[in-house]
Amino acid sequence: MDGRGSASVNRLKNKIALVTGASRGIGAAIARLYVSEGAETILTDIDDGAGEALVRDLGPSASYLHLDVSDEDQWLAAADHIAAGPGRLDILVNNAGITGFEETSGPYDPESLDMASWHMVHSVNLDGVALGCKYGIRLMKPSPAASIVNISSRSGMVGIPAAAAYASSKAAVRNHTKSVALYCAQQGYAIRCNSIHPAAILTPIWEPMLGEGAARADALKTLAADIPLGHIGDPDDVAWAAVYLGADESKYVTGAELTIDGGILAGSSASPTRE
Ligand code: NDP
Repeated sequence: MDGRGSASVNRLKNKIALVTGASRGIGAAIARLYVSEGAETILTDIDDGAGEALVRDLGPSASYLHLDVSDEDQWLAAADHIAAGPGRLDILVNNAGITGFEETSGPYDPESLDMASWHMVHSVNLDGVALGCKYGIRLMKPSPAASIVNISSRSGMVGIPAAAAYASSKAAVRNHTKSVALYCAQQGYAIRCNSIHPAAILTPIWEPMLGEGAARADALKTLAADIPLGHIGDPDDVAWAAVYLGADESKYVTGAELTIDGGILAGSSASPTRE
């Protein structure tokens, strides 16, 4: 058992995987499940202390590499490292992302947005994914069956007035995923590319929006009340989707988008009722 109530069946055996933003939150959950499913997993992040500690916990199938996804030179160095080591990549999870709420001072709405904040959010969320796909494709050509998994968001499918740059960047990730999927298919590369669209998954990214103490408990309750399944999601809910899309079980799936949102995007609050 992998400690999560499910026996590992080595779905990712013989796969070499790289996960960005893997030091905490959803990326850490994906890295943990990838290792338990048999993948040799390279965790990357800008938080080296947390990433290295997690790798020690995960054991010899995991390794850590510093990688700021917005910096092309760092992608080049990572690609050199992989080319000189395992020699290929089978799975790339472009997970690193920011809202901008912690990293910039805003404002974040469409009327008054700050361009430095706008560019920073896009440089991590969109440039980071585009660079990941660019170097991922190069590293995946020797793979017999490769998969790129881009973590977009519910915010890539609907407007978010209070986080316009975040929503814009995630919408672009959704679309770029499809360009990459079709390009790889056209070229005859054995590389698939799909996007995952999580919403309301409890990770540190939420902390600036939740407050503290009683206010935090109230904010979590309000958030859960808007979710059809009635509760906030867990990083493993997203990680299992990343296992499926990384594994050969999804070999006919490319250019697809998978929502992991407790049903949020399934309906509309303005739907008709008889009352
Ligand atoms: P977290 O903030 O918990 O984790 C993100 C990780 O990415 C952190 O370790 C962070 O490092 C790292 N990171 C930040 N900037 C960079 C960078 N430039 N290069 C490399 N790593 C970086 O977020 P989540 O786990 O919640 O989010 C993961 C992904 O899922 C993101 O793309 C997010 O947008 C997406 N998502 C999350 C949802 C949720 O409800 N949690 C919903 C929809 C989408 P550091 O700690 O040093 O900043």
